[in-house]
Amino acid sequence: MIPFLDLGAAYRELSAEIDAAVARVLASGWYIGGAEVNEFENAWAAYVEAQHCVGVGNGLDALILSLRACDIGPGDAVIVPSNTYIATWLAISAVGATIIPVEPDPATHNIDPARIEAAITPQTRAILPVHLYGQPADMDAILEIARRHSLKVIEDAAQCHGARYKGQRIGAHGDVVCWSFYPGKNLGALGDGGAITTNDPAIAARIRRLGNYGSDQKYVNIERGTNSRLDPIQAAVLGVKLGHLDNWTARRREIAAAYSEALADTGLVLPHVPNWAEPAWHLYVVRSKDRDAMQKRLSKAEVGSLIHYPIPPHMQQAYEDLQIASDAFPLARQLAQEVISLPIGPQMDSDAQARVIDALV
Ligand SMILES: *Cc1c(COP(=O)(O)O)cnc(C)c1O
Repeated sequence: MIPFLDLGAAYRELSAEIDAAVARVLASGWYIGGAEVNEFENAWAAYVEAQHCVGVGNGLDALILSLRACDIGPGDAVIVPSNTYIATWLAISAVGATIIPVEPDPATHNIDPARIEAAITPQTRAILPVHLYGQPADMDAILEIARRHSLKVIEDAAQCHGARYKGQRIGAHGDVVCWSFYPGKNLGALGDGGAITTNDPAIAARIRRLGNYGSDQKYVNIERGTNSRLDPIQAAVLGVKLGHLDNWTARRREIAAAYSEALADTGLVLPHVPNWAEPAWHLYVVRSKDRDAMQKRLSKAEVGSLIHYPIPPHMQQAYEDLQIASDAFPLARQLAQEVISLPIGPQMDSDAQARVIDALV
């Protein structure tokens, strides 16, 4: 069986280093915040070319706290891709703001900047692009629209650790950038974890306070915050893995290139990489009109595959009350019917990839 992603293999590759890092935290007697978290925050900020990093509990919290730090709440509206993982929408719902979905550019699967302006209303306060599948969204076009309309830009970077846009790492193009370290992400913890990065010291300080009960100083609470902090054990593990991320991304890039070469004549729609993008290749997503048959063929050949995502947020029961017609966002709906993600991961070897390709050509 070729798994879609083998998290155990990533651990085995680094087990000596990871075990030592975990043991160090256990022996330290310090289990919330502290040096391990500070060190990782500094390392992650430097890696993504941002001035500040604040660790939080998970990627969804990073999004929610970022919206709160920008004072976005009831009565405000946020522009978000129609084609994304539901977490991006749920963050907007969680702060009580209105979701304004915008369709993707089907070539990149990311929000289509040409469709954003028409969606802006007097209530709109922010644009929340997602760097889906590890492909950077077109940030210059998005930032230009945001500047003209005085909108905040909050990036969902949960899938694009290490990606570059026009040579600069994703990490501080917008006002605040939200990261998830869920185990399956390109930089994944051994449990939940998340962070925000930003060049704005006020936003960083506000998010740190909001995630720590609204407190900057023990037992002095400035506002009604929550508890969302990056765990020191996870920070230590992430610090170890960060040292290997560039190599792992390079390996993902090789796998992606090999798929693109081998599948060129299959009639599948392969990932399109604009010339300004250096993707992180979180996922290698192809499109097929015969997607379901293709997935059956793969599973017969004992090859794991996944659909990212089978139901777009506007068609989920969770958003039934918004009464959005299922054909209101036809591109999101069509992509949900056609996309399939092939196995990709830094520990996948060429023999395994050859078996995936054999099942498809
Ligand atoms: C994983 C993911 C999230 C949520 O991250 P968690 O750490 O699981 O809360 C948000 N947005 C996108 C696009 C994701 O892929």
